Amino acid sequence: MLPDPASGYIDNYYTRTLDADTHYPALASHEVADVCVIGGGLAGLNTALGLINRGKSVVLVEAQRIGFGASGRNGGFVAKGYAASHDTLKARLGLDHARKLVDLTKDGRALIQKRIADYNIDCGPLKYGVLIVSTKDREAQVLASVKSANDDFDLDLKYLSTEQVRSHCKTEFYYQGYLSPHDFQFHPLRYVHGLARVIAEKGGKVCENSPAVRVDQDGARWKVVTPQGSVRAKDVVYCCSQYAHGLNKKIQGGSFPVQTYVMVTEPIPAEILDSALPTSHPIYDTRWSCDYYRRLPDNRILWGGRVGLWAQPHNIAETMMNDLLKVYPQLRGYAKASLAWSGLMCYAPHQMPQIGQIAPGYWYNMGFGGHGLVPTTVGGEMIAGAIAENDQRIKLFEPFKVKYAGGPLGQYAAQMIYWLWRARDYTG
Ligand SMILES: Cc1cc2nc3c(=O)[nH]c(=O)nc-3n(C[C@H](O)[C@H](O)[C@H](O)COP(=O)(O)OP(=O)(O)OC[C@H]3O[C@@H](n4cnc5c(N)ncnc54)[C@H](O)[C@@H]3O)c2cc1C
Repeated sequence: MLPDPASGYIDNYYTRTLDADTHYPALASHEVADVCVIGGGLAGLNTALGLINRGKSVVLVEAQRIGFGASGRNGGFVAKGYAASHDTLKARLGLDHARKLVDLTKDGRALIQKRIADYNIDCGPLKYGVLIVSTKDREAQVLASVKSANDDFDLDLKYLSTEQVRSHCKTEFYYQGYLSPHDFQFHPLRYVHGLARVIAEKGGKVCENSPAVRVDQDGARWKVVTPQGSVRAKDVVYCCSQYAHGLNKKIQGGSFPVQTYVMVTEPIPAEILDSALPTSHPIYDTRWSCDYYRRLPDNRILWGGRVGLWAQPHNIAETMMNDLLKVYPQLRGYAKASLAWSGLMCYAPHQMPQIGQIAPGYWYNMGFGGHGLVPTTVGGEMIAGAIAENDQRIKLFEPFKVKYAGGPLGQYAAQMIYWLWRARDYTG
């Protein structure tokens, strides 16, 4: 999937509805700053803004356009938690540690809301409440998991019976579910552009079309080299997800890329759409490889789902439309695909973000998987706090630091892990 030469982005719904597309010039000078951030997705932007708000000077270099990767082409669900489930965290770390990690995402979600308001970022309409639905009839299990999530993590989830779920989604595909009332949806690429604008207004330097090609030790500093310039900085933060190619094999080898796909329909007449999806809540189901979708303000459906490690469906739009029609057969003949695209998620085997340091002053902030809009905010705050204020909360992520999982067998190991996760969709 090649970027459009004019915009520099792959064509998607968000690029088509981005009102103001500000371009930032490439780095063409030799700069000195407190910190150089590599990667202009939400991990990089949140790190840069967190640092600037703590008084640090920052240069951010992005290989293509800001939000070129997953951050500018995702589902737009802004939800607490991580790709790893609360239960997994509790089983692995104990309740106290798991609760601290989950609480960070509640703070992260609130910080996003505050930034949207304080910096006047036009990325709405913000619609509150995300609906999570089960594709299997298992009342007792859903009730128990809502209760334990509320008891352990104070999440305020609202259980919904099958009848209640089906009043939001007119399909027999779903049974019980729950509503997470404080999560919301937004326009991710507009948010990305809002953050970049604020960084620039506050004196940060944002550079597009500036791939970091090398990071060298330079005395007590690091030197980040781009094709036309360089940045010398005491600290450097690697936020490249799986879009970097060979910049740091050790960091990249600790995770693997997983593709996922999104399709957007043409506008559907309101009364027809109401017969399937009368709700404004975004929806996802409880499988690992889930369908996630929402009604857009102009009566289209944004439908995301499926995952792939190497291969990509021959025709993404048709494949996704078939998935939509399996759930909502009443839309056959009315829902027509308008455009479709894919994006890369970055997963470590534990499904948790990797936030830490690989050498003194060389940090990484990545591995957010399919659940990154809030966790990238958390990661940005952890790294910025650690660099600027010696904030120790970053230690909460120590169990998930980068471990080399590469080597010739790395991709095969990734394939095994991936099959295991998918198998859970059919047996769980
Ligand atoms: C289709 C899709 C749907 C999703 N839906 C949701 C959702 O609804 N809710 C949710 O919470 N999460 C969702 N996610 C996940 C979420 O989008 C990601 O976890 C998050 O955006 C990751 O941000 P990032 O900054 O780590 O990576 P990215 O956004 O991928 O950014 C990495 C950036 O680094 C740049 N880069 C790479 N190498 C270099 C280099 N050498 N020099 C300079 N720059 C470099 C890239 O060009 C890229 O812009 C989805 C992901 C996808 C793909």
